[in-house]
Amino acid sequence: MVSSNASIKALTEQYCLGTYPERDIALVRGRGAYVWDADGKRYLDCLCGIGVNNLGHCHPAVVEAVQKQAETLMHVSNVYLIEPQAQLARLLCENTFATKVFFANSGAEVIEGALKLARKYARKKGYAHRFGFISLLHSFHGRTYGAVTATGQEKYHKDFEPMLPGFCYVPLNDLEAARAAVKEDTCAILVEPIQGEGGIRIAEDAYLQGLRELCDKRDLLLIFDEVQCGNGRTGKLYAYMHSGVVPDVMVTAKGLGGGVPIGALLVGPKCEAVFEPGNHATTFGGNPLATAAGVAAVRALLEEGLIERAEELGKRMLERLRAIQQQVKGVREVRGRGLMIGVELDRPALPIIGEMMRRGFLIGRAGENVLRFLPPLVIEWDDLDALLHHLQEVLLS
Ligand code: PLP
Repeated sequence: MVSSNASIKALTEQYCLGTYPERDIALVRGRGAYVWDADGKRYLDCLCGIGVNNLGHCHPAVVEAVQKQAETLMHVSNVYLIEPQAQLARLLCENTFATKVFFANSGAEVIEGALKLARKYARKKGYAHRFGFISLLHSFHGRTYGAVTATGQEKYHKDFEPMLPGFCYVPLNDLEAARAAVKEDTCAILVEPIQGEGGIRIAEDAYLQGLRELCDKRDLLLIFDEVQCGNGRTGKLYAYMHSGVVPDVMVTAKGLGGGVPIGALLVGPKCEAVFEPGNHATTFGGNPLATAAGVAAVRALLEEGLIERAEELGKRMLERLRAIQQQVKGVREVRGRGLMIGVELDRPALPIIGEMMRRGFLIGRAGENVLRFLPPLVIEWDDLDALLHHLQEVLLS
């Protein structure tokens, strides 16, 4: 039987748990900035698997690394040393603030690792009573219990309460609120330098600087979540590099593996000896296949001029979107950095996304009213130009 969108939809609805909203197209092939559905229709992919395919689909260096590693050794577990894991850790340490790295398989998983590490840091420093976290309203950190509790959006908590104890939420870019939230039991502050799912909201440099000073003063850990904004997307390898504010701990995932699932917990010198053998582990994390893909992906980001490209294309795209904002009613705000861009509307984003998909352009949503653009860093300007042309038409109609 030849697969089609309809046949894959029927199979999915029969056998997969209904955790995702209804979907009508099955993407079956990708190359660069393009993907094709099972009925043969082509789309320009400006969502990138929600910020995963920063290198575009099937980047040749990642494909080659995965093919080679798959023929050599796919998995062994962390009972043994793993060469590509050590190589990827070195690559990340040489290009960031970090001195040590732990690998897992997803964003939520490395958030869990960061939360555990922060509590252990406090214990080791003799703050036996410190277990609390401050995170931000509109944040998103994942769906496991620690990560979803850290997520400052009630809709993700609903029906799963009670959440974990010890979390409180403060508004983004309000330093006073963060200061007031620090209590005797606080051990860390968790922030996305650019909030993704919560609406593409940028943490101001002065805010991050203020949090850094607050954490230093109270001996709290400053944790950055760069699961979505990391890996070249914003025009720097990691978004914290725009502000110059260095975290104690950073987590990333999504684009790190060039399409292969991986997460990384990066720590600076202050935290490198916090975990001891037996404190934290994962079966799959850092396995040869995922980390070989990661090495190829990070090298490609660093060596192919893609980060600079994200910065330049992002500037042009923001300019054009701001021009569209002048011509179209109902565009409240255009914001972003590099190729991580949000357009806030005065109405639900879903109908616009649906019409853009019909026209062959995949874009996403961040909250109810925000269109989310996460195009691949390899995209051509002509393709972005076409996207913006159609977007303007759809917004005007
Ligand atoms: N943190 C941020 C900023 C994210 O955007 C996401 C996912 O969208 C996560 C954490 C969770 O990552 P994952 O879905 O890989 O568990």
